[in-house]
Amino acid sequence: MAGIGSWAMTDRAPKTCVACGRAVEWRKKWERNWESVRYCSSACRQRGVRNVDQALESAITTLLDERARGATICPSEAATLVAHGQGIDDDRWRNLMEPARAAARRLVAAGEVEIVQHGRVVDPSTAKGAILIRRRDPR
Ligand SMILES: [Zn+2]
Repeated sequence: MAGIGSWAMTDRAPKTCVACGRAVEWRKKWERNWESVRYCSSACRQRGVRNVDQALESAITTLLDERARGATICPSEAATLVAHGQGIDDDRWRNLMEPARAAARRLVAAGEVEIVQHGRVVDPSTAKGAILIRRRDPR
């Protein structure tokens, strides 16, 4: 039977920001409303998840479905795909790079993909620099 201690541990387990997909660690200031915390920051709460963010998630899964198993894509591929879909044909697709990385992190949280650097799976919350996205190993 689980004692109070383990219950408290579970209750304070990190969760994932629904906007940026980064881990949200329990903080004292959330003591009373941790259950309802969904965003890591007020910036994420204000931004939320927009249509373009959902389009980026779809673009990532579509691109991966077109590749061989275990193949990777770059977030820029999803960003350009969504930008072209919106009729953007100049370099404004770059504005979608960070949203594309956030979309990849949300998909990691959903258990669909993993983020790799130099062939190794990395923590999406802390990965810096260029990343690649691949389907999570189905095993
Ligand atoms: Zn966030």
